[in-house]
This record gives sequence, C-alpha cells and structure tokens, in this order.
Amino acid sequence: MTSPDVFSARLQRAVDSARRSDIDVLLLTPGADLRYLVGYDALPLERLTCLAVPAHGEPVLVVPLLERFAAEASGAGAVVKIVTHEETDDAFAMTAAMMRDALNGAPSRVGIADRMWAEQVLRFRTLMPDTEQVTAGGVLRDLRVRKTADEVDGLRRAGAAIDAVHSRMGEWLRPGRTESEVGRDIAQAITDVGHAHVNFIIVASGPNGASPHHHTSDRVIEPGDPVVVDIGGTMRDGYCSDCTRTYVAGGAPDDEFARYYAILLDAQKQSCESVRPGVTAESVDAAAREIIATGGYGDFFVHRTGHGIGLEEHEEPYIVVGNDTVLEPGMCFSIEPGIYLPGRHGARIEDIVVVTDDGVERLDTIDRDLVVIA
Ligand code: ZN
Ligand code: ZN
Ligand code: ZN
Repeated sequence: MTSPDVFSARLQRAVDSARRSDIDVLLLTPGADLRYLVGYDALPLERLTCLAVPAHGEPVLVVPLLERFAAEASGAGAVVKIVTHEETDDAFAMTAAMMRDALNGAPSRVGIADRMWAEQVLRFRTLMPDTEQVTAGGVLRDLRVRKTADEVDGLRRAGAAIDAVHSRMGEWLRPGRTESEVGRDIAQAITDVGHAHVNFIIVASGPNGASPHHHTSDRVIEPGDPVVVDIGGTMRDGYCSDCTRTYVAGGAPDDEFARYYAILLDAQKQSCESVRPGVTAESVDAAAREIIATGGYGDFFVHRTGHGIGLEEHEEPYIVVGNDTVLEPGMCFSIEPGIYLPGRHGARIEDIVVVTDDGVERLDTIDRDLVVIA
C-alpha cells in the first residue's frame, strides 16, 4: 500500500500547481485524480463524495455517512480529514462553506474534476455564483504524467498479468466458438491473474477485426479467421493493463493478411524503438505511420498510435500527430498501430512502454509474431 507520506507529498504538489494557475480550490469528485491524491477508489454516486483542496488551509474529504467505512478502509483518513454528511444535509453547501472559511471568502476560481457530473457542477455554480469554474485536469496532468518508480512497478505488474492471460489464448480461441464465449473465458482469467476489474474485452474475428473498438458478438469464429484480441483491466492498486495481440484461429489466413501483418509488426517495433527522452510524442506516431504508409496501407491505419496509461486506461500523453510533448523518463503509454480492411479483417499489436533514463522498456513482453492457433 502506498504510504500516507506519498499522498501528502502529492497533495502538496497539487496545491502548488493550483496556486500557479490561480486556482483557489480543487473540487475532485470520484475518479483518478481523487485516487491519485488520497488513495481512495470512491464510487461515483448521486450522493456527493468530494475531495476539496483549498490553496490555503486544510483539505477535506466530504463523503456520505454510509461511505465512511469505505473511505476509512482506503487509508485516506491518514492523509486528509474526512467529513461526513447525512441524508438530509446539503453536502454541496457544507463543502462550499468549508472552503469559504478556509479562504476567508468565496473562491474567485475553482478547479472542477474533469469528469464531475453536470448536475454537481451546476449545484456548485449556484452556491458560488461569482466563482469561475475551470477544469482541474490541467493542474493534475503534470503530476500524473511522469510516473514514479513505484507507479511503473504497478504498471509492470499489470503488464505481466495481462500477458499471462494472452499466453493462455490457445485454450479458448478456436473455430466453432463465438466471440462472446471466448470473451467470457478471458474475463474470468483477467480476474484470476489479479485484476480487481475487467475494463474491456475485444474479440474481433474476421470482418469484425476491421472495427478497432468492436467488443464481442455472437459471431462464430471460422477456420483461418484473423482475430484481434485487445484486453485490459485494473489491478487492485489502481494501475491498468492494456495489451493487444492478433491471432489466427485454426488454418492459414489469406495471403494479404500475412503480408500486412509483417508490415504492422515492423511498424510497431520501429515505433517502440524510437522512444527515448527528448523525442516528441508525435515523432513516435510518425515512426509507425511512415512504415505502414510506405507498405501501402496508410489509409487503413485510422487511429492514433497510442495513449498514456496509469490509473486510467486512457490519459496523457497521447501519441498522435500534433502532440509536440517532449517525452521524459517515467512517461507510460501504449504503442498500438493497426491496419483495418473494411469487410475483410484487421490486425493490431499493442504494448505498454515506459520511457527510461536512456530509452524505453516494454511492459508487455509476450511474443508478437503471428500466432496461428491450431
Ligand atoms: Zn481504445
Ligand atoms: Zn488496447
Ligand atoms: Zn490501448
């Protein structure tokens, strides 16, 4: 378990960052920012749970009375004061009043959690009509984007766990079974290897493989079908896994598939190898895109090359054209180029990588060569 000292240091850095942005209070409802700062994996409910962090004074974690045990069990009480509200209390007014007291007056600007529910945002607006609301994400982004060694360890364990699931694919994936049946087996295995939640399961066989965000369906897998399997979950410490391999189920795929898979494999490899401190996020995207374009499949690579990962499946830095963020040690993201031929099939290869002091480390390490499951 992460020590309270680590969370206290994060809170202090968040306060410093808020002050630099002229934000008087951070109001963080359940989500990755709240978990990052105090370690509490809070449920998003209509009852208000909110970590209120004033630029001066004491932060408080406001929770419904019935969530008190969960909040305390998370260890958050060692980091911030927990204040409970009962069913008939106005938790929004309580929170606003505490912040007014801490700041000796209404805040002029508050940072609202990026994914706070609209009804909650509007309640706070009504209670603090002269206060400007901005998103808090920018304040936390700089902290969260560079992972510490402990966080990278968390992602490394997540990577090893999801790789272990992929390594068992031959037990489940075969012609005659539906994508959904295979998906159910994968879901069981994802929790068996230590994830607390299954986040998503894509089993995209044959023509479904041409849809990058297909889930599963009742389609029966046929001999020779390429099958894109993209799976991920959240480990108990909050860090996420995300890994894609493309398989062929029983029998040989068509010639064109084998041809573009080889191009894709090369693109993924070169893109990974281009990662090191000092290069831009978009250059890593370009490394993959150029190889696929040169191979004649540029029009069929329809998404960015990758996304950051941590306490969220998708976070900064995005590996995409136009992102000139300079990569630094501790940044973690996916490298997942794909080629998708509508009506026919598709392929994607995805690993999570971390920028090291002098290069890159892949956190997913299982074989990327085309696996034909007999
Ligand atoms: Zn995605
Ligand atoms: Zn994925
Ligand atoms: Zn991904």
